[in-house]
Amino acid sequence: MATEICRMRNVDRSPVSFSMSENEISRAFKGFKNRDEEWMAIYHSHPTDRAYPSQEDILFHNYPEIPYIIVSLVQNKPAVRCFLIENSLVTELKIELV
Ligand SMILES: [Zn+2]
Repeated sequence: MATEICRMRNVDRSPVSFSMSENEISRAFKGFKNRDEEWMAIYHSHPTDRAYPSQEDILFHNYPEIPYIIVSLVQNKPAVRCFLIENSLVTELKIELV
């Protein structure tokens, strides 16, 4: 169960791509380790595209064991989907809200 959201800056400063700062990632990992917590997922939004990993998402996803949550804002109601990406293979996971 997720108990915290760790917001990261988009160092790309772009509405169509994102990258996280290595320093912010390192700081987040240290925080998780100090609190004996685990990193459960990475999330980002697609303001103008569907909730599915883009080619860039697939190419640059460096954490195959970490689920990737994508929120699409294309429709009136946001669409939220979750995926694992490993070796360019995209597998959708079911999201359960408790
Ligand atoms: Zn994306």
